[in-house]
Amino acid sequence: MKAIVQTGPEAVEVQQRERPVPNSEEVLVRVHAAGLCGSDAHAYRYEGGYEWIPIPRVMGHEYAGVVEGVGDDVEDFEVGEKVVEEPIHDCGHCFQCKNGQPNVCQNFSITGMHRDGAYTEYVTVRPEHLHAVPADVPLAHAAITEPTSIAARAVLDRSVTTPGDNVLVEGPGPIGVLTACIADSLGANVLVSGLGRDTDYRLPLLEELGIATLNLDDADLEAETESFTDGLGFDVVFDTTGHKSGVETAAERVRKGGQIVVVGLPGEESALFLTPLVRSEVDLNTSYGSTWRNFEQALRLMDNGAIDPAAIVDDSYSVDDPTGAFEAFLDSETCKPVFTFAE
Ligand SMILES: [Zn+2]
Ligand SMILES: [Zn+2]
Repeated sequence: MKAIVQTGPEAVEVQQRERPVPNSEEVLVRVHAAGLCGSDAHAYRYEGGYEWIPIPRVMGHEYAGVVEGVGDDVEDFEVGEKVVEEPIHDCGHCFQCKNGQPNVCQNFSITGMHRDGAYTEYVTVRPEHLHAVPADVPLAHAAITEPTSIAARAVLDRSVTTPGDNVLVEGPGPIGVLTACIADSLGANVLVSGLGRDTDYRLPLLEELGIATLNLDDADLEAETESFTDGLGFDVVFDTTGHKSGVETAAERVRKGGQIVVVGLPGEESALFLTPLVRSEVDLNTSYGSTWRNFEQALRLMDNGAIDPAAIVDDSYSVDDPTGAFEAFLDSETCKPVFTFAE
């Protein structure tokens, strides 16, 4: 079977692998489609924080597929069912897991990083990591369940966003787009900020979805904040930029008594000045990964049309040219490339 394998920094290639055989406790999943996300792009570049990943490694952690076989001891899934995997496997026995915080498990491992991933035709996985996909959600759409679950956690669990709120989402990458869509579905007034390089694909994608955007390279966010929020500042700011400037900008644009939710990993140390935030009693929160509940929320949001994966999924990149997809993603020429492994 075909697999997209990382062989070095900025080096990915298609290799042939043996089809895995499930043991008695595993499910064999035929992968339909698998998405490419920011962390895959960091891993592709073998950046700091990712250089521990052993290579060669079959990449990919966001995918949807069909159950093709089940081990003798598997009771929860049957051949033919549509499934998605929760790629971050928690250990189940550390303090955080037992305390209802499995997304910050002390011993988690990630599919496609700690073990071979889903950029291939078949994978084996234990059933506790799988979710059934609703009948009306196509597999090509379900492939973005994982990033949608991360956005669902940020908006629905970690923010106080309510209908009518003025919400700024910094960064129009996949998590920013999905965060904006979920906040929009709640009835918030959402503005997404991006840069000049986002004006070809990512900001127009949001405009098509009916969400307001701003290119920071030729517009003034301070003036826009004045008009968008009647001079108050934003009720909630989500930082999905993955850059330290994101939280600094959030601190300038949030209203007194408002909330900042940092979703992206800023990468470098920030010199954020906290005194004004304390004086304004700004709620500074973070959101990391997602839980079982957030996966179910994501699947329901796709099922009831609150978010529109058809507009977000970009299936124009071939499995046979993974480098093209990674480079296009890094150049912001696409938002959520999804490789199709089976028709
Ligand atoms: Zn991801
Ligand atoms: Zn744990």
